[in-house]
Amino acid sequence: MSENENEITVNNYLKYLSEGKLMGSKCKNCGHIDVPARKMCSKCLKPETEWIEMSGKGKLAAFSSIHVGTPYFEKKGYNRKKPYVFSIIELDEGPMVSAQLVGVDELHPELIKVGTPVKVKFLNIKVEGLPEKVDLRFEPV
Ligand SMILES: [Zn+2]
Repeated sequence: MSENENEITVNNYLKYLSEGKLMGSKCKNCGHIDVPARKMCSKCLKPETEWIEMSGKGKLAAFSSIHVGTPYFEKKGYNRKKPYVFSIIELDEGPMVSAQLVGVDELHPELIKVGTPVKVKFLNIKVEGLPEKVDLRFEPV
């Protein structure tokens, strides 16, 4: 890897996502892990972090069924009749990450249980008028 690729930036984080890698940053000072990766540790605030690849496994910590979404989700085809589930996932490595939860019954969120084991799912999506990008999603194992 070149120095540029090694640098912790949003672009490099997204580049890893496009390669199917969920990357965090691990603090060399206190060991804290942040996802998405960041240059400065969110715990001790020291700019001494390095890339660490996540297993992509975790459990559902919280979720919400969204019936009126952002314009971005509306463009993806979600609406009042077709809601989507937004979730907070606690990764096995400790950090929390927010993402869409798929593979569940969006119309019956009462059936979705906090604590459900999930794994990451990368999806290349193209939304009209926007550049193709990788969406970070999770689904029940
Ligand atoms: Zn730290």
